[in-house]
Amino acid sequence: MSPDRRGERRTRLLALLTEHGLDGLIVTVLPNVRYLTGFSGSAGVALVLREETVFFSDFRYQAQAASELGEAARVEIAQSNVWERVESVLGEYAGVATLGFEAHAVSVAESERLEKVSGRATLRPVKELVEGLRVSKSPEEVDAIREAARLAHEALDATLATVRAGQREIEVAARLEYELRQRGSEWHPFHTTVASGPQGALPHAGATEKEISAGDLVVLDFGAQVDGYCADITRTVVVGGRADERQRAIYDLVREAQLAAREGMRAGMTGRQADALARSMIEVRGFGDAFGHSLGHGLGLEVHEAPRVSRLNEEPLPEDAVVTVEPGVYVPGWGGVRIEDDVRLTAAGAELLTDGETQLREIA
Ligand code: ZN
Ligand code: ZN
Repeated sequence: MSPDRRGERRTRLLALLTEHGLDGLIVTVLPNVRYLTGFSGSAGVALVLREETVFFSDFRYQAQAASELGEAARVEIAQSNVWERVESVLGEYAGVATLGFEAHAVSVAESERLEKVSGRATLRPVKELVEGLRVSKSPEEVDAIREAARLAHEALDATLATVRAGQREIEVAARLEYELRQRGSEWHPFHTTVASGPQGALPHAGATEKEISAGDLVVLDFGAQVDGYCADITRTVVVGGRADERQRAIYDLVREAQLAAREGMRAGMTGRQADALARSMIEVRGFGDAFGHSLGHGLGLEVHEAPRVSRLNEEPLPEDAVVTVEPGVYVPGWGGVRIEDDVRLTAAGAELLTDGETQLREIA
């Protein structure tokens, strides 16, 4: 049995609420609700108060909430309107004077609704309090990401064994998604990309009806999810032939830059410093403008979360953060190469959670 972290997460959050002068927090961001309570469904709200955590959902989740939450929170199931139930629970706590809400994820309509149900409490917008707690991963969270990566690699191998020139990108994406689900991935954390030839120049190309031509570079960017935690992997392969000189040269450049970043990154470096490990190599070779995104992003219950491994991040990367390392070079009209692995950061370096096997695969 892995340890139950929900009690310590609640304690850390309460300390943050004190720091911010709040008596409670309404948590509406679902991955935050999951982090605090264990609820994995698609509709639920948590109200974190000093006295207790109360979880609200509707009839569909009655049984699931009871079994997933256990003692972690009081469960309130609304027969009609969840927000009326929030209002009545807040009515029990006359001492709650200031109540935070997750301003980064609440629409104007939702904030008006919150205003209505908060009764005597004054609402105060806060930004990413729970997200901040989520940055450093526990060993169990890292294990879940490692397991997601393991099954994703298996799914890729099974898929590549069937890939041939003449297949449509969307066909390859469907096969990859099938293989991922077959191995237990809970869901696809983002749109699978299978981008061939010139399509590869679009970093978020998705997968189209385009047929893969013999000799195309094909960028495959895909994810898997285990216990809610995401892996995010990109591999670029050649289909239906051998790499030509230009494909090989650009591939090797991206591969070297990715390896340099993986080997040089550590917790305590700023996002900018980590990004520069790969970027400086790509810039020196004249492809700086062709690497138009950041080196990586945090990974966890969400596929894009803090910290950013970016030129714009001057903050040190925290110990035990899990991040992607994904440099790319994109040439309009020609195509692109991106290579992405996932690592856990420590003061000593970056621990690889994916397989790190980045030699160029040429598929006949
Ligand atoms: Zn990716
Ligand atoms: Zn990514």
